[in-house]
Amino acid sequence: MSSTEPIRTYFEGLDFVATVDAADRLLRAATVVVVADRIVAVGDRAQVRATLPPRPGDVVRDGSRLGMVPGFIDTHVHLSETLSRAAFPDNLNTRAWVFHWAKPFYAHVSDADESVSVSLGAAELLRSGTTCFLDMGAQNDPGITARAAAATGIRGITGRHAADRKPDQIPAGWSPEMIDHHFFPDARTALDVLGQAVRDWNGYAEGRIRCWVNIEGKEPCSLELHVGARQLAEELGVGTTYHLASSRQEAEVSQRHHGMWPISRIHQHGGLGANLVLAHAVAVRDHEVGLLARTGTSVAFCPSSSIKLAKGAAAIGKYPEMLDAGVTVGLGTDGVAAAGNLNLMRQIHLMAGLFKDARVDENLGGARRALRMATIDGARALGWDDEIGSIEAGKKADFVLFALDHHEWVPFHDPVQALVWSSSPASIAETWVDGRAVFATGRVAAIDEVALRAEARERAATIVSRAGLRAADVPVTTSLYD
Ligand SMILES: [Zn+2]
Repeated sequence: MSSTEPIRTYFEGLDFVATVDAADRLLRAATVVVVADRIVAVGDRAQVRATLPPRPGDVVRDGSRLGMVPGFIDTHVHLSETLSRAAFPDNLNTRAWVFHWAKPFYAHVSDADESVSVSLGAAELLRSGTTCFLDMGAQNDPGITARAAAATGIRGITGRHAADRKPDQIPAGWSPEMIDHHFFPDARTALDVLGQAVRDWNGYAEGRIRCWVNIEGKEPCSLELHVGARQLAEELGVGTTYHLASSRQEAEVSQRHHGMWPISRIHQHGGLGANLVLAHAVAVRDHEVGLLARTGTSVAFCPSSSIKLAKGAAAIGKYPEMLDAGVTVGLGTDGVAAAGNLNLMRQIHLMAGLFKDARVDENLGGARRALRMATIDGARALGWDDEIGSIEAGKKADFVLFALDHHEWVPFHDPVQALVWSSSPASIAETWVDGRAVFATGRVAAIDEVALRAEARERAATIVSRAGLRAADVPVTTSLYD
């Protein structure tokens, strides 16, 4: 083999490949060939042997005890929140959680804390099979998130989180510095800074890191900022994401102030569109499902966060109706304080069964649909489905290999059911991003995880103490923005 010919890696005779392609093909005894950052062949073992035989020097791996699925895509995460695990009470609703706990915590996250937080979060994502994320954005400089995430080998989108409507009364724990860097005086000033972040960071790390026009959304953002973020994103050829309709209380506040629920209000001002991903969208009226479908607006459903913060996905959520209407719904974890974990496999599991149970209808959800939401649908929401989200020749080599000799896979019959209902990250052997095994043999290869964990523990304790987050002193309900 001449030195100009790149090495091919053959995953030969894989027990199964859940391609999640347009035909949703599930292949058995299949071979996948990777060259550099791309998948170049997917098919029957004998067929691939015949059409693309390995040459001397190529790597041929035995896939007989491995199963391959596309890398999971987390459509809503806060990587700057990872040091807040189990730091707040678990009897908070969304608004009290955001205003009285999360914001004071964020107010005391330094640049160095944020970098550790992002590394730790990205490592947890890779360990649980997530190869691409949509992050709400950095607390400080988006470059911190871009650099720290890129260094782990993961793919993702970040931004510079922003808002422009301070509450009338500033709650305890909101530092002047946080207010200063998070709340801009008006939408125009915020959009100028967000646009610069996109110009600085979109396409970083050979294109693995993208940057969008991300804002916090809901009460802390003006209508002009919601609508302007999507317009600016369109001008820059990127996307935007923000929280909206994230709880019934938020919808009720919107009803009181604006006479309608949040999605209707944004739509009335031309704010919905195909480059927008709404995080949560749980408080949604029937006709608003149609608005999302008609405008091509995507939704990031975050089951762990919904059940922990009592958002009401099972009681009031219209995710099954969105799917039936053709809305692209991806799955997200949300941040660690909101959800407790950054494990997308838990979200897949919850999505597969939550609505069956809540509505006593065995046809709602299911393993195959939940897996598609976590892969190709997530890629579509992120506008990245031309390159990621399925196992197909020509796409990026972003995938997860499950070790089928692991106890949780023994025995199994249908691979997708076993994946969704039985397995966990414990049986992930390797996570590949851009043609590289970034998690393998129990380690995220590019970073020193032992040192990272030690530093994370130390910094997390310091932030909670600096922020004054002692349960007895902090409200568990809120009237902010009421
Ligand atoms: Zn969020």
